[in-house]
Amino acid sequence: MAHTHTSKTDPVTINTEWLSDCSGCHVAIVDMHEKLLNVLETVQILHCPVLTDIKDYPKAKIGLVSGAIRTEHDRHAAEEMRKSCDVIIAWGTCAVYGGIAGAGIVHTQEEIFDTVYGNNKTTITHAAPSAEISPFEQVVTPIDEVIGVDLYLPGCPPHPAFVFDALLTLLEGRAPKATKETVCARCTRTMKRTGVTKIKKNFDGVPERDVCFLSQGYICLGSVTLDRCMSPCPANGTMCTGCAGATMQILTEPNRDIRTEVADRMSRMTSINRDEIISEIEYSAKSHYSYTMAAKMIGKKPTFLINKWIANTEAEYE
Ligand code: SF4
Ligand code: SF4
Ligand code: SF4
Repeated sequence: MAHTHTSKTDPVTINTEWLSDCSGCHVAIVDMHEKLLNVLETVQILHCPVLTDIKDYPKAKIGLVSGAIRTEHDRHAAEEMRKSCDVIIAWGTCAVYGGIAGAGIVHTQEEIFDTVYGNNKTTITHAAPSAEISPFEQVVTPIDEVIGVDLYLPGCPPHPAFVFDALLTLLEGRAPKATKETVCARCTRTMKRTGVTKIKKNFDGVPERDVCFLSQGYICLGSVTLDRCMSPCPANGTMCTGCAGATMQILTEPNRDIRTEVADRMSRMTSINRDEIISEIEYSAKSHYSYTMAAKMIGKKPTFLINKWIANTEAEYE
């Protein structure tokens, strides 16, 4: 990977770009507050949709790309970023895995347009976007299937501390440290064996404050999710839905999967049957896999309903 090295007289130039996304990753820059000011002493931000009005892509050392590729414009912008930047950081879950919009991979364009525009009860016109909007591609594509990526920074958005840390390591010419901790590692809830016999929905009852959600029968994805967020959800009473993406173990080992890992853990802590948990997670896969479904290694996991849904969608396009 290319390293950038600088001094105060030689600021490091940065381009940022957002593709199809919710803009939350760019808001994370603004969330760095005074830390951003420290970084700004040594960097010069050139192309950045939230901070500058520069339409072209000046040459830059570092390129931060958020969002996935869903339109022709996204593809063009990603390629321009690659051409203009020495180092490309895939920034946020959408860029790395396709993100939540990646769940669109199991629906055709017609179904999506019909739900979002045609039959949307909250809009008045029900009109599809004008033909001037960049054409929609068939699927959502994580950026590394289109351009080379030097550093991955998942998170939805990545906690500002991780963005800051990544920028700082690059500015100082150090290799970024790749922490592999899961959301569980930072969670303070206690895992304990219980006699719980039923899987609960997120809205069933009021979870105990200090006990692991799995012990209580709620599905929490903390153990299969990378910590890029400082684990705010379990600390604030809600289950982890995996928005930062799966751990390296899930990604790299073909026989490991989100549903089986969570089922192993949860069945050991409760009296719920492992197969019942697997079926529940499979049944609700559009929620539990939504953030990473567009990534090939997740979407193509064996024995999985997503395979069937994707095949159905592909058949519609043939
Ligand atoms: S990763 Fe999350 S916060 Fe970032 S652009 Fe995608 S949906 Fe928004
Ligand atoms: S599974 Fe969820 S509640 Fe349990 S320790 Fe992990 S993050 Fe915390
Ligand atoms: S859903 Fe999980 S990965 Fe996402 S912010 Fe909450 S704890 Fe972090």
